[in-house]
Amino acid sequence: MQLTFPHVVFAYNKTMPSSSSLKKKIAIIGAGPGGLVSALLLAKQGHDVTIYEARDRVGGRSSGLDVGPYHFELGPTFFIYRPIIDTILTTIGTTLEKLVPVTPIDPLYELRFPNKTFRPSSNHLAMMKEIHRVFPGEEAGYQRYLKKELQRFQKVTPVLEKPFLHLRDYLRKDVLAAAPYLDLGQSLYQRLKKYFHSEELIYSMAFQSKYLGMSPWECPSLFSILSFMEHEYGIYHLQGGIHAFHEALANLAQSRGVRIHLKTPVQQCVVEGKKITHLKVNDDVIPFDTVVMNADFKKAMELIPEANRPHYTDKKIEKYAQSCSTFNLYLGLDKTYKLSAHTIVFSPNYAQNVKDLTQTMVLSHHPSFYVHNPSSIDPSWAPEGHSALYVLVPVPNLHAAIDWEKEKDRYTEYILDELVARAGLKDLRQHIQVQHVISPLDWQNTYHVQDGANFNLSHSMKQLLYFRPHNRFQDLKNLYLVGGGTHPGSGLPTIYQSGIIASELIQHER
Ligand SMILES: Cc1cc2nc3c(=O)[nH]c(=O)nc-3n(C[C@H](O)[C@H](O)[C@H](O)COP(=O)(O)OP(=O)(O)OC[C@H]3O[C@@H](n4cnc5c(N)ncnc54)[C@H](O)[C@@H]3O)c2cc1C
Repeated sequence: MQLTFPHVVFAYNKTMPSSSSLKKKIAIIGAGPGGLVSALLLAKQGHDVTIYEARDRVGGRSSGLDVGPYHFELGPTFFIYRPIIDTILTTIGTTLEKLVPVTPIDPLYELRFPNKTFRPSSNHLAMMKEIHRVFPGEEAGYQRYLKKELQRFQKVTPVLEKPFLHLRDYLRKDVLAAAPYLDLGQSLYQRLKKYFHSEELIYSMAFQSKYLGMSPWECPSLFSILSFMEHEYGIYHLQGGIHAFHEALANLAQSRGVRIHLKTPVQQCVVEGKKITHLKVNDDVIPFDTVVMNADFKKAMELIPEANRPHYTDKKIEKYAQSCSTFNLYLGLDKTYKLSAHTIVFSPNYAQNVKDLTQTMVLSHHPSFYVHNPSSIDPSWAPEGHSALYVLVPVPNLHAAIDWEKEKDRYTEYILDELVARAGLKDLRQHIQVQHVISPLDWQNTYHVQDGANFNLSHSMKQLLYFRPHNRFQDLKNLYLVGGGTHPGSGLPTIYQSGIIASELIQHER
């Protein structure tokens, strides 16, 4: 039986008409997903928008990577919860399908444990059968999970749609209505334990905390909405990749008058009183009315003189906890392997692996890893008969005492061995035509990600809602934050939502 649920869609307030008399000159720092969505929504409102991007292509961590004739996603590979991007695209008068061909992926992914393989589905009937096959006796727990998590999802999502600019926002109607569903003080693992007995089934619904760079044992239980989103709304493959979609957004923005300057890092925000008046770019100073910051939060703060950000002094920023990092391998192969589009190989000691990542901060023996094999469903990634494999290994961020300059080559070889032994990629080394590696140090140095913390500031309750850097920056009247380092948090759906929130705040700016 397929349960059908009413869809909850993140809101976009379309009540206020765009007006050229309110036209502002707006700069966006960074062409990541948050910056691109903001540009489109602000252009729709009638503003004059310019994006400055430090790199030579758009998309930020969600851009593409080309190595010889092989194409890879640089970062995100899971495109989840499409209602939010559908809302944005409808608002600006287009659809996802008009920008890129889209296919739902089912089963969602292949989860490999030492003695079993589990293929979850967003079709609830198929999922019941799969649970019965792999975890017999857990079916009733899954039914309860769907029912309870739907109720929670419907209460929690309105809270994530609105900014938290004042402490009194905790007294908002939507927040009070959601409060009984938040399970404050409970971890994601504890929440899932209420539904399921098998540790491996719990891990199958908990590994999504990796999208936030967190441990299921520390991640607030609120984030059970992540696996629920996958099970209720599915995962999509975007032909040519998530990066191709972001490139399409950039082209659309340009066709609507947004100027995008690549290879143009903003050097400094020039502040007078409580406002940014100019941006320093190419040693020139350019005036703007409003600035939207999409750069990684900690890096972004370096662009604002410390004296102008009393809520975010260097000392205060240092105290923010960061998410974990990732070690990424990109392999162009002259063969194809029988491997799903998304495969996760769990560590034989998952709990220890997660502890190594987030607490003891060491490299695990037999870590969990993820393999993206888009060539299995889309021929555009590699020459015919070849394939492009992306391997992601969660590792500690740069606060760990790991010297990546020394470790990079050794760890690459270790992961290649693990791929052969645990993912069954026989003779892998013989088929590698091109190989590219990104270590946590490279994420920091090449991709402007402070501490290599790829999923931004950590998502503990101490760093969420009001306690996360605000979408309207506290210390400067005309600065707005978008992206994973601000509210509602990291992950594409919430990052797109930050663009909605910022554009609405700007619309109402006086
Ligand atoms: C390896 C990896 C895997 C991930 N997997 C997923 C996934 O599967 N699903 C998911 O939903 N999310 C995933 N994420 C998380 C998240 O969705 C992405 O990191 C996302 O790209 C973050 O978007 P953002 O808007 O915060 O900006 P970013 O992508 O960080 O982009 C910011 C941009 O600002 C630019 N910039 C910085 N400083 C300046 C400056 N001074 N001047 C001009 N430009 C500047 C940067 O060059 C960059 O282009 C993943 C992230 C990583 C790294």
